[in-house]
Amino acid sequence: MSSLIQTLIDQASCQSDYDPNALPVPRAQELILSMLEPVSGIERVFVRQALGRVLAADAISPINVPASDNSAMDGYAVHRADLSADKEATLKIVGTAFAGHPYPHDLKPGEAVRIMTGAVISTGMDAVVIQETTQTDGDTVTIPAGQKSGQNIRRAGEDLRADHPAINTGKLLRPAELGLLASIGTVEVNVHRRVRVALFSTGDELKSLGTPLEGGQVYDSNRYTMWGALSRLGCEVLDMGVVPDDPTALEAALKTASESADVIITSGGVSVGEADFVKEMMTRLGEVLFWKIAMKPGRPMAFGRIGKAWLFGLPGNPVAVMVTFYQFVRQAILKLSGQSPIQPIATFGVPTTAAMKKSPGRTEFQRGILTLNEQGQWQVTPVGAQGSGVLRSMSEANCFIVLEHARGNIAIGDMVQVQVMDGLV
Ligand code: AMP
Ligand code: MG
Repeated sequence: MSSLIQTLIDQASCQSDYDPNALPVPRAQELILSMLEPVSGIERVFVRQALGRVLAADAISPINVPASDNSAMDGYAVHRADLSADKEATLKIVGTAFAGHPYPHDLKPGEAVRIMTGAVISTGMDAVVIQETTQTDGDTVTIPAGQKSGQNIRRAGEDLRADHPAINTGKLLRPAELGLLASIGTVEVNVHRRVRVALFSTGDELKSLGTPLEGGQVYDSNRYTMWGALSRLGCEVLDMGVVPDDPTALEAALKTASESADVIITSGGVSVGEADFVKEMMTRLGEVLFWKIAMKPGRPMAFGRIGKAWLFGLPGNPVAVMVTFYQFVRQAILKLSGQSPIQPIATFGVPTTAAMKKSPGRTEFQRGILTLNEQGQWQVTPVGAQGSGVLRSMSEANCFIVLEHARGNIAIGDMVQVQVMDGLV
């Protein structure tokens, strides 16, 4: 038996309750992640082009941010000699400091400078007194007792310190990171190259768009959901179309895919009772395990390697393919893309408005709609048709309802775990 498969089996079975016919979802997720390393290859891009890419080296700040001590409020800058716990002080207004236009002298005892948010703190300015608490009279200002040295001053380097990482390698660059990079004067950054994914559907019944359906045929929707999901994850997608259930065609497709991509994603042909071409060909060309995962929908899934490419053989049913993608492939792609650390999908509990049937011994992923109830609290309602072929359920839903492995039937009002689809799908 090949080394990869042996490792997978060894790792999967090193727990007391291992059942090869019902691998628990968290175990399969861990195993996949443990096998993968980020793809090599770095690109240098301008900051705006880095949106959605993964940082490939720490972004070290060459400067302090903020660069100088500055005022956090609009008010009056005062000297520490005029701060008192129990006495107010009346001070002479000697000038004004705006953001970008500092007060050009040292501040002396008995003086105050009108200062705006963001204006540089000059020598002698030890505290900023908020404007609303002061009283002005001509060219004097009275500040109340109890002001403290250092108050309302943002210190240089408080946000970011010079020569320290502003962003660590492995971070997905979102709008916040683009701004952070800009705030330290970055023009270009090193990012990981995109993960290349070859994608095809298998099945004699599948038709591509643009041709009319004949008896028993269905349009290939999986390539569209998968293309969308992969594009959102920032992958380079090689769409290889529909491959019929034919050994020669499958062999050619798998070979081409393995030579051109980091990951091969197929749908269909891995379930029990399928014409066995897909499984047979995957086994012949690479090191592939057919996992029976304790989950619904999406029990069968192939995972392994063909040449240098990782293979995910997903089920054919349109909902099952999406669920297995989001529960297994998504994290794998994040890891390959160089993201670190890989966070699990955020999952939190809300009450359900409907009872759900559930058998213990498998994780179920129902499609749900999260809404605010009249008390302003989030609640979830399962969408009507939960069949694994009913793609409309994925479209109607805004969350997955995750019913844990050991759980049985769920009653109205019970707390259930949900994963918000927004940002995920
Ligand atoms: P399979 O896993 O190949 O047995 O397919 C299971 C079910 O999903 C069958 O009803 C297929 O027709 C359907 N199916 C498989 N692949 C696709 C696809 N790419 N698009 C839409 N439906 C599919
Ligand atoms: Mg099929």
